[in-house]
Amino acid sequence: MSKAYFASILEIFKSKIQLQKHLETIRKKGIKIGFVPTMGALHKGHMSLVQQSNSENDYTVASVFVNQLQFNNQADFEKYPVSIENDIRLLETESCDILFIPSNEEMYPQNYKQIDLDLGILDTVLEGRMRPGHYHGVVQVVYRLFDYIKPDTAYFGLKDYQQCMVVKLLKNAFFPRMELRFCETGRHASGLAMSSRNERLSAEGKVKAANIYLILQKIKSLSDHIVPADAIKYGCHLLAEKGIEVEYLELAHADTLSPGSSWFKKGKNALLAAVYIEDVRLIDNIVF
Ligand code: AMP
Repeated sequence: MSKAYFASILEIFKSKIQLQKHLETIRKKGIKIGFVPTMGALHKGHMSLVQQSNSENDYTVASVFVNQLQFNNQADFEKYPVSIENDIRLLETESCDILFIPSNEEMYPQNYKQIDLDLGILDTVLEGRMRPGHYHGVVQVVYRLFDYIKPDTAYFGLKDYQQCMVVKLLKNAFFPRMELRFCETGRHASGLAMSSRNERLSAEGKVKAANIYLILQKIKSLSDHIVPADAIKYGCHLLAEKGIEVEYLELAHADTLSPGSSWFKKGKNALLAAVYIEDVRLIDNIVF
């Protein structure tokens, strides 16, 4: 019987040393460990990562840590939703085995070693361009979490498409034996990508936000008929018509994120967007 039939007891660790000790015993028994890093305010999208980890491993570790280093905007960090009790409840229901909730000091002790990783164009396009220093912060936290937990496999969401590519570079550079899985974006029935940030939207804002994915799909449907520049211009027009402020809406190669002025071959087109609704920054993408 699969582990999902039992509500396993969620063990909570705040100390990295105690977590490491515990995981060492687990690992010695030959138990496979899956890892799902998060910033909390968990929703069904996060849970799909936990489910995938449970289906491929004997043991799932999740972490909740709002990593200040990756926020290029202090106000955004301060407004980031926190709901640890609900997070614990969801993880228990999903039969997650361990929740790691480190403090800032635990993650970044004084004189911690900064990780230097050349991200190439990932640091200068799309999210890299709009959020200077963001991926440097992501690299610092993910490196530390991988180093503490040493999972067999780590799970990330394709909603943060560019982040998946950054994590892949990090893995190749420092954790070659670990495996990565990139999981499909969980969406509401409206098409809106699940996101912790949606909680900051009014009911009306959520209705508006559902247009993001609909318009990405519309642009995709135009790709057989018109050039990317025209399709994207039309997409921007549709978004603006819905009262959505576009930060970027761009076509890039799905494997490299290098920008595209003509459509790439089937399956290699990544259309990525960052928009503002009610002062909340939302991202989404579609690959076709
Ligand atoms: P976050 O807490 O936003 O840092 O997200 C933690 C992980 O969950 C990241 O790998 C995200 O890409 C992933 N994630 C966030 N939203 C979704 C979603 N709607 N569907 C699937 N994965 C998601």
